[in-house]
Amino acid sequence: MPGTTNLALTDSLPLTCTRAGTCCHGKMVWLNPWELTRMATAKGLTPRVFRDRHCEFGGIRLRFDNPPGWKGLAACSQYLPDFGCSVHVGRPLVCRLYPLGRKRRGKELHYIHRGSSFPCLDGCPKVVDLPYLTVSDYLSCQDAMACETAQDGYLELMQSLADGAFALLLESGLAASGDRLTLRLWRELGKEHPEHLTKRLGPGWIDRLMLPDISDGLDDPAAFSHRHHDLLQSQAQTSFGNLGDVAALREASGLMMGLALHLGCGLGANPAELAGHWIVTAKKLGARE
Ligand code: SF4
Repeated sequence: MPGTTNLALTDSLPLTCTRAGTCCHGKMVWLNPWELTRMATAKGLTPRVFRDRHCEFGGIRLRFDNPPGWKGLAACSQYLPDFGCSVHVGRPLVCRLYPLGRKRRGKELHYIHRGSSFPCLDGCPKVVDLPYLTVSDYLSCQDAMACETAQDGYLELMQSLADGAFALLLESGLAASGDRLTLRLWRELGKEHPEHLTKRLGPGWIDRLMLPDISDGLDDPAAFSHRHHDLLQSQAQTSFGNLGDVAALREASGLMMGLALHLGCGLGANPAELAGHWIVTAKKLGARE
């Protein structure tokens, strides 16, 4: 099994993207709502049209539905043969970081590299002739900072949605009523395939999650995610502020948890692990499964 190396910003690797496109085949490119809107804008499309044409699972992942290219692997929906990425200025964080990964836990941030060999050497042998860059310089020339800010903003929004699910369970009397079904629902949602979770959440909430009605602010990803947070919170308050019976509270808690898990999936997290973590926390706070 390939190992994972944590890299410091000063570590040096042959990291210069050639846009040869080998990294645009056979991959999974997950998106957050700001990235989706930014890509749509770069293509001159509305976010809804871009989502419906080029994304799956309600917008959290780019389709890889262009004809197979490198190694017979399907090409990204944005990839043009003999050109490369058709949305280069708006490409998402995962494309800017490749072949690096990014892991944030609280205030700790790591850039990681999986495996022992440099994957670009396989498809882009000219990489060996390129100058080595530090991780910091690589990130800078990939113009990754705005994408990283958006990613962190949406990690906070994901936690806030989960907090809503906690509040509906723990502060409404639902957990105190002896309910055991809500945590089972959270666990089930964590294991759900993203396509099925998209259907369970329904088009209205999926659109609120992935197509926020925010007409400006793309240049300020932190403000964009905060505004999106406020819109979701306001809608949740309107929808779930006055629930009385146990079944409705459970359903609402499941919906907030489902939104958090779906967004988390788009941020590259493992929904089953996320759900497991939040269930453990809820049990410590008195909920039962
Ligand atoms: S968005 Fe662009 S850079 Fe990213 S995988 Fe698709 S074609 Fe490649």
